[in-house]
Amino acid sequence: MQITAAIVSERSAPFTLEKLELCDPRPDEVIVRVVASGMCQTDLHGRDGYFASPYPAVYGHEGAGVVHAIGSAVRLLAPGDHLVMSFPWCGTCPNCQQHKYCYCVQGRRLKMHGRRADGSTLMSRNGTPVYSAFFQQSSFGTYALTQERYAVKVRKDAPLEALGPLACSGQTGAGAVLNAMQPQPGDSLAVFGVGAVGLSALMAAKIAGCDPIIAVDVHAHRLALARELGATHAIDHTGRDKIVDALRAIASDGVRFAIDTSALPIVFREAIEVLMPSGTCVLLGSAPPGTDVAIEMPFLQQGRIVRGVVQGESLPKEFIPRLVDFVVAGKFPIHQMIKFYDFAEINLAAQESSAGIAIKPVLRMPESR
Ligand SMILES: [Zn+2]
Ligand SMILES: [Zn+2]
Repeated sequence: MQITAAIVSERSAPFTLEKLELCDPRPDEVIVRVVASGMCQTDLHGRDGYFASPYPAVYGHEGAGVVHAIGSAVRLLAPGDHLVMSFPWCGTCPNCQQHKYCYCVQGRRLKMHGRRADGSTLMSRNGTPVYSAFFQQSSFGTYALTQERYAVKVRKDAPLEALGPLACSGQTGAGAVLNAMQPQPGDSLAVFGVGAVGLSALMAAKIAGCDPIIAVDVHAHRLALARELGATHAIDHTGRDKIVDALRAIASDGVRFAIDTSALPIVFREAIEVLMPSGTCVLLGSAPPGTDVAIEMPFLQQGRIVRGVVQGESLPKEFIPRLVDFVVAGKFPIHQMIKFYDFAEINLAAQESSAGIAIKPVLRMPESR
């Protein structure tokens, strides 16, 4: 079928909206009429060649929409269902066999290589392949194709156009708290970097009853939003060299949980140093290969845990509907971090995202077919 998608023709080129051909679904696949798609830094990293993936390409991996057509073996979805498209996994590797899908050893290839696992592409332009299975969805289009197992059905009374970000930044931040760290009410928690991932973690920390919840960032408008969404304290990192002291003035023993979303070694080190004995620091930001951080061995010996978490260690079909329930109940006010753009404004959205003006850009797709 013919669709309109945002194509990147070569490395760092702008997005251009073009008519492309989307293939028919295989037995286990669904075609989704995309209602809206979040934009994540990973999309822009793809555009800019970070993953050595081929061009021309279509990105987008926070898609929300309505089932348009299903393959012959699809059983859990029907046309008209509302869904969010989550991350892909292979299903057969040692981690997938233990249901640790977020750590699928094939995950990076399935997300970044622009093809199905068997090497086929989903879209074409005038008969020429377009690399378009980004995260096995490529949601920057009026329609997208994904596998049934990556599609998460959501309740129809939820605001569908705001739900796409739950597929990546939302479950990455909230899942780090609710799935990986599992705090008790009254546990202290600090979030370094309150963009879309950090704010999602912060809203989850509030749901879990953490106190204090300390937000650290360099942008005043983000810190103000963090306070609105549940941070009990906000620390402006700009020009400060004694951040750990500032945090310990609030939590004198250190915090039980710290999250770094910045992926900057200096900030990550601060997030580690602020831990109390037996505290846990979780790295959510993506640093370039070769980035090191030093940790004092005696400090680590006191039961402290430093680890990475991917995609919130979520089982998407269970966790995303749980987050949607929080959204509907007003406990996860994701709207407050979203700035909506028309699909045709995709380059503006990218620019404002990179500049820190838009915390979470979401592209609204035109109704056209
Ligand atoms: Zn796997
Ligand atoms: Zn993402």
